[in-house]
Amino acid sequence: STALVLFRRDLRLADNPAWSAACAEHAQVLPVFIHSGDEGRWSAGAASRWWLHHSLAALARQLHDASAGLHLRRGEPLDILRALIASSGARAVYWNRLYEPAAIARDTRIKSALRADGIAVHSHNAALWCEPWAIATQQAAPYKVFTPYWRNLRPRLQPVEPLPAPHVPGWHELPDGLPLAALELLPRIAWAGGLAARWQPGEAGARELLEIFGDDAIGDYAHARDLPARHGTSRLSPHLHFGEISPRQIQFELDRRAHATDAKRRPDLEPYLRELGWREFAHHLLYHFPHTPTDNFNPRFDDFPWAPADHALLERWQRGRTGIPLVDAGMRELWRTGWMHNRVRMIVASFLTKNLRQHWQHGARWFWDTLVDADLANNTLGWQWVAGCGADAAPYFRVFNPVTQAKKFDPDGIYLRRWLPELAEAPLALLHEPWRDADLLKRSGYPAPMVELGQSRQQALDAYAALAR
Ligand code: FAD
Repeated sequence: STALVLFRRDLRLADNPAWSAACAEHAQVLPVFIHSGDEGRWSAGAASRWWLHHSLAALARQLHDASAGLHLRRGEPLDILRALIASSGARAVYWNRLYEPAAIARDTRIKSALRADGIAVHSHNAALWCEPWAIATQQAAPYKVFTPYWRNLRPRLQPVEPLPAPHVPGWHELPDGLPLAALELLPRIAWAGGLAARWQPGEAGARELLEIFGDDAIGDYAHARDLPARHGTSRLSPHLHFGEISPRQIQFELDRRAHATDAKRRPDLEPYLRELGWREFAHHLLYHFPHTPTDNFNPRFDDFPWAPADHALLERWQRGRTGIPLVDAGMRELWRTGWMHNRVRMIVASFLTKNLRQHWQHGARWFWDTLVDADLANNTLGWQWVAGCGADAAPYFRVFNPVTQAKKFDPDGIYLRRWLPELAEAPLALLHEPWRDADLLKRSGYPAPMVELGQSRQQALDAYAALAR
């Protein structure tokens, strides 16, 4: 019999439970990807579409090497699935679950329609250590605070050997698939050169980053993860988002390597696993509080006096022309590479929501369009956390000072010089606060700060105090 395997954001062949089950249980498989853009306002942004294009190309090559192919289609998923079932004679459909509200609603609808047609539908978990509904407080409620959530989850996470890529039994080829270009995922204007120089979408690229991280950075992660000039983190976020690697594979591989190292030099994996725990927590929150991509988690902030949306001001932030070096360096890193260091994400978000008092939604939208790792669960958690309105958020009054942060985490200015070429020659004493030298601003063309940090911080605190009253 033939099984249809619907690939979505699980773009790998190893440790892919839906793919493995279909290959084990059927004589023929038909791997399919349907581009539908039906996740509403959270359909993939430009950088994610670039990634998806290349990841699909990589998956198609891998399937080709395994004597199969990836059937590409575009349109309404249920209609296409029904047409494919009719032309292939498949009686079963396999997929791995997604957790965004729109995806859950769509998949539930498809599942019941296909079952009503007499088709078996099998869904699996490929993306998370633990299903979002499987962890609950003693009162059977969802968690809203990370630490107790993690205390509950962590003991369940023993390293488990991931599934190997299965042997493909037989490929059910269909003639009418689309070429990849017909999905029109690539940007029309050529801005993605920096992305191509930095990233290798696909399972092999993920594997390579994991090896580099496991060889070098993991031992120093707890310290180096805060230094944006260093490659101190794994950079696996886009690969995780597109399911080119799973948390289980990461944990198993890091654990295997750690145990191959002698006890004295064995790295402590906990700080890194904890960050993957934040990813799980973000999915737990999104699942239980599906309104939070657009609404404040904490409704008290519904009355917060945000400044009116100001497009000129937003554009300066987006382009990295705020006049605050660490903010600009981060925003330019994002624009050029589709990624930004976590500490810098917190600082640019704090600057936008506190110093400029723009609604966190404006920032979340820009990140959505420009991040290669744009992820509804993680992005929502990140923005609401910084803005102070999220679950287990930083208190609103804790406003990041981008100058102090730069001096602490980029003390030699390496990150700043990398992304702000006009300040590359500035002496270190001025690099963190170039406005101290009017001549330097004039010579370099670097802008004066768009707001005074101390004063705008105070205005944010006043707005918050008014809300608290
Ligand atoms: P590592 O330090 O190597 O961590 C490993 C993995 O753990 C990451 O790949 C990621 O999947 C997960 N992780 C790490 N930190 C967090 C975190 N704080 N929250 C949730 N998961 C985490 N991450 C995204 O994947 N997509 C987003 O759209 C996103 N938007 C963010 C927006 C803001 C305002 C902030 C402050 C953070 C955001 N993050 C987002 C979280 C974090 O910045 C990135 O996951 C991290 O920088 C990715 O780099 P890495 O893979 O090298 O991380």
